[in-house]
Amino acid sequence: MIHRLVTRVRSLLAGKPRLRKAPRRIAAQEHGIQREAVSRSAIRVCEVLQGAGHRAYVVGGAVRDLLLRVVPKDFDVATDATPERVKSHFRRAIIIGRRFRLVHVMFGSETIEVSTFRAYDVGERDTDEHGRVLADNVFGEQYEDAARRDFTINALYYDPGTGEVLDYHDGVRDIRRRRLRIIGDPETRYREDPVRMLRAVRFAAKLGFEIDPATRAPIAKLAKLIENVPAARLFDEMLKLLTSGYSVACILQLRSEGLHHGLLPLLDVILKQPQGERFVMLALARTDERARAGKKVAPGFLFAALLWHEVLSKWNSRIAAGQHRIPSLEAAIEEVLESQTEKLAIQRRFTAEMREIWMLQPRFERRNGQAPLRLLEHLRLRAGYDFLLIRCAAEEAPAELGQWWTRFLHATDAERTALLQEAGKSRDATGTRRKRPRRRRPAQAA
Ligand code: ATP
Ligand code: MG
Repeated sequence: MIHRLVTRVRSLLAGKPRLRKAPRRIAAQEHGIQREAVSRSAIRVCEVLQGAGHRAYVVGGAVRDLLLRVVPKDFDVATDATPERVKSHFRRAIIIGRRFRLVHVMFGSETIEVSTFRAYDVGERDTDEHGRVLADNVFGEQYEDAARRDFTINALYYDPGTGEVLDYHDGVRDIRRRRLRIIGDPETRYREDPVRMLRAVRFAAKLGFEIDPATRAPIAKLAKLIENVPAARLFDEMLKLLTSGYSVACILQLRSEGLHHGLLPLLDVILKQPQGERFVMLALARTDERARAGKKVAPGFLFAALLWHEVLSKWNSRIAAGQHRIPSLEAAIEEVLESQTEKLAIQRRFTAEMREIWMLQPRFERRNGQAPLRLLEHLRLRAGYDFLLIRCAAEEAPAELGQWWTRFLHATDAERTALLQEAGKSRDATGTRRKRPRRRRPAQAA
């Protein structure tokens, strides 16, 4: 008894969550998940593994979403079988990752990610000086696997065989109360992985949950630990936040938590320039609409929008210094990409798209001669045009310009000729016609 108490106190001091070994088992009629709502591929993976004598469950975000009656994005499975074992049971399966070895089992276009239960042992893990876990790839028991997950609502296991949900940390209760609660000692868990602070904000905003006071409390103090997270990891998490369909809500929440500085480098960039905020918020609101309608969100477009005002202010100061329009835009773009991409870990594959979207903007203003017709063949016309519409909505480009392009894009050849003439006339009338563009066409990114 005393021994158990001592162990308990010690583990509390170490910030180790109380590892509840036996889960609460919640029957199908109580939790209400319909088997039909579960991916057949995920069920198949569980059945095959269970048939071979293993334990296997649908786990994580999918179970949370099913309980919330939201359609899950994807399905993950957790099992006591090793990756090699898992792979051996399926025809189309590959082992991925070096640090975390996971198995991807493919069924048509669907991929089920299968992970082996991982151990959770604070004392023996390899951490940096702030407590960040550097390696945790030791296999363990299911209750340990549950304890190393981030939030109680993400640590639920659904067994397609029995229809039960296994709940080690009162996640089902927290879903009912709409509470986001971290598993274990909040400060320790954030130190182990500072990205969990971002995840807390993302889940709260996306699910409309309240962050439990104890889970929220240490965030303000620890926010700066985000800086120690490798940029590529941060980028992935940031992309999840921005494409969650709830990016505006996430950003408002980050702000209300006082977390908008330091937590997300890109946000600092945005919020440093209040004149760009209107534009950014509009761009994010549109992105949210797209994401919620199930459409693809192009990261290149998103980052082009987020950094646009940075480009714009550099562009303007070059023009004010007497440089030519197009070369100064090119130079401003290079400057921004150079200073931001490394810090933000924006991958090169996105920067080509960003550059093209930006370079298209002045070209939309040229409505004389053949210029608009030539633009119709541009590969990024659609993205550039969507971008233009946001600039119009933010009132930084004339609404008339956006309307003209909308008509032009949907017009027949004859209508296009008329539109070109109309544009020529209105420019003469308003006297805003610029001198003919110089010979040199704006360089396009390869
Ligand atoms: P989403 O719907 O956004 O994908 P998710 O909960 O599935 O939400 P993932 O990032 O796909 O989130 O992670 C899957 C699961 O892995 C989580 O539900 C959680 O149990 C666990 N997990 C992910 N990231 C962490 C982390 N940083 N620390 C602890 N557990 C994590
Ligand atoms: Mg997921």
